[in-house]
Amino acid sequence: MRDFYQKHCFNYKFTMFLFKKVEDLQQYLNTKRAEGNVIGFVPTMGALHEGHLSLIRQSKDQCDLTVCSIFVNPTQFNDTSDLEKYPRTIGVDIDLLTSVQTDVLFWPAVEEVYPAGLDTSLNLEFGDLATVMEGRFRPGHFDGMAQVVWRLLCIVEPNHLLMGQKDFQQLTIVRNMLQQMQSNIELIMCPIVREEDGLAMSSRNRRLSTEERNASTIIYRTLLEAKEMLATETPQKISQWAMENIASLGFRPEYFEIVDGYTLQRIDTFEAADLVVACTAAWVGEVRLIDNMILKQ
Ligand code: AMP
Repeated sequence: MRDFYQKHCFNYKFTMFLFKKVEDLQQYLNTKRAEGNVIGFVPTMGALHEGHLSLIRQSKDQCDLTVCSIFVNPTQFNDTSDLEKYPRTIGVDIDLLTSVQTDVLFWPAVEEVYPAGLDTSLNLEFGDLATVMEGRFRPGHFDGMAQVVWRLLCIVEPNHLLMGQKDFQQLTIVRNMLQQMQSNIELIMCPIVREEDGLAMSSRNRRLSTEERNASTIIYRTLLEAKEMLATETPQKISQWAMENIASLGFRPEYFEIVDGYTLQRIDTFEAADLVVACTAAWVGEVRLIDNMILKQ
């Protein structure tokens, strides 16, 4: 029996292919590529929400065939309990992907992505891009992230890679990786999808208690206020105020930095960069949330 099967969704009268094996996926995609189809790729870790689906929709708008992967990558978790607690909801994910007519889901096991005997390490240096912000608090995270993204790109060989602005530093590092690898894959940045009250959608939000969930809008409100303060205050003053503001509700902010969107380095004045982004990470109880906002473009 072939190691893939079709899921028929009668509500949508749409068929999505689900592959678990690299070989089967590649066999299918090779045929589609030979027919001239432009392939869009959306890598995810599952526990899907509207943010992920917006990437799929954008891929479907721009490409002939959309591949989504669901893989909780162990090499990018520096905290094993975070890896264990990461939500896994494959049944719901398949229904959501079918509802937006995703063409292909790649859902591999760890041994399929990292087979014994295959060297999947990526010896790239990201310099200061990877040592600031998330890099300071999650050592090794970006090496693991780049390793899996590059491995998945080698498997899928897409024309377009779609990623969210939600993980701004990740996206900047992937852009740098594609440049270093001299890849032709076009990286497309998709906007942050938020809940009605402004909280950025995240697979981790479902781990918040009701009280934490309601209070966590402080992160978005602080980003908005930071943008308003831009005309009158310095980046340092705003960052300091923002850290205190987030902490005032009992949250534990790790950083709130106003950076040059290309170098990710802190800026002293708003005139110092063409693209200015405020990035933040904060612990809300046991859950670590990240968010960002473009302040100037
Ligand atoms: P993850 O499953 O968290 O690894 O995310 C997979 C992709 O979805 C990444 O490119 C994220 O940046 C993107 N993403 C996650 N949350 C959102 C969101 N709220 N809005 C837009 N994109 C998102």
